[in-house]
Amino acid sequence: MEEDLWLRRTWAEIDLDAIAHNYEQARKQIGPKVKYLGVVKADAYGHGAVEVGRELERLGADYLAVSSIDEARQLRRHGIKMPILILGHTPGEMVPDLIRYGIDQAVSSLSKAEAYSAAAMSCGKSLRIHIKVDTGMSRLGFLARGEHFQSAVEGIAHACSLPGLKAEGIFTHFAVSDADDGDSEAYTKEQFSLFCRVIDALAQRGCTFPLRHCTNSGALARYPETYMNMVRPGIALYGAGEDAQRLDLWPAMSLKTTISTIKIQEAGTDISYGRTFRTARRSRIGVLPVGYADGLMRSLSNRMSVWTGYGMAPLRGRICMDMTMVDLTDLPELTVGDIVEIFGQHQSVNTLAELGGTIPYELMCAVSKRVPRIYLKEGKEVGRILNLN
Ligand SMILES: *Cc1c(COP(=O)(O)O)cnc(C)c1O
Repeated sequence: MEEDLWLRRTWAEIDLDAIAHNYEQARKQIGPKVKYLGVVKADAYGHGAVEVGRELERLGADYLAVSSIDEARQLRRHGIKMPILILGHTPGEMVPDLIRYGIDQAVSSLSKAEAYSAAAMSCGKSLRIHIKVDTGMSRLGFLARGEHFQSAVEGIAHACSLPGLKAEGIFTHFAVSDADDGDSEAYTKEQFSLFCRVIDALAQRGCTFPLRHCTNSGALARYPETYMNMVRPGIALYGAGEDAQRLDLWPAMSLKTTISTIKIQEAGTDISYGRTFRTARRSRIGVLPVGYADGLMRSLSNRMSVWTGYGMAPLRGRICMDMTMVDLTDLPELTVGDIVEIFGQHQSVNTLAELGGTIPYELMCAVSKRVPRIYLKEGKEVGRILNLN
């Protein structure tokens, strides 16, 4: 079959057992009564939203969240039936699509609530909404800090009373819940207490919400008191981030490539664009068919090593668009065709993120469209996405 022919150039293995394990670890942490919303925005942080969504549905997770209606629609078109919440903005004109696809929408201001209400009324249906409260992230949401408290409560109560809207949930987002210093802890606790005060004030006006959620991955590990009745982790599901070790999570993604060519370069040879590395000795230099167009950030040039079956091999010279050079002088066993791991089970994406001055989220999301995703269960391939098809 034609689709069986694909080049083992650079690929990402997605271990669905790790997704399941990480979900179960969170389940253990939150107990049976708290609901679990899995954040699968940005193609499930590069892992493939449909496959991760299906796995979460199979595992009995309660909700999914995405950032836009396009992402939500993709999940519905691929048969995912579980509730989906859009965290970002959707224009009022698309409310009929939200209703048709049965998708919940975050509402971050009264004017948006009014637009959604009008749109829902004109198609004679109702839209499920989750009210977003800004308690200190200063991004989306009804501003609730300080003197804005009263107007937030009034605005939210008004929004929830509008016809055509069904208030399904209320949520907020933490800015520093993944940091361990005292200042961050105080800030997170302040955000949480403000969120609770908003909910209480609304309850006094008879405005209640079936779902109350604020726990991202950082809070999942550090602040059990914030679980309320639903948690909302992303990175923890993928087994990366600050708390991967603390929560005994498994990395779900392994980015792999193979050695395509090996050449002997004399001492004093400049490697790659910009001549940023010169060999100090006669060197065995391998070429990896992976570059920044695959998501390997160029800022990692000369900074990182890749994992090989015989030890770590340091990158030499600049990472190019499609290729990268690696020093195999001390690893004579390695030959053309051998597999190397850029990040994954042997080298944590967290390590690379630190070397590159970024966060694991960015490295995982950066793995580009041309990199096939290979899905594994019990080490065996169970699915494959070649985005170039
Ligand atoms: C991305 C996102 C999350 C998940 O954050 P993690 O740090 O990956 O756990 C949760 N809530 C909102 C609103 C988000 O945008």
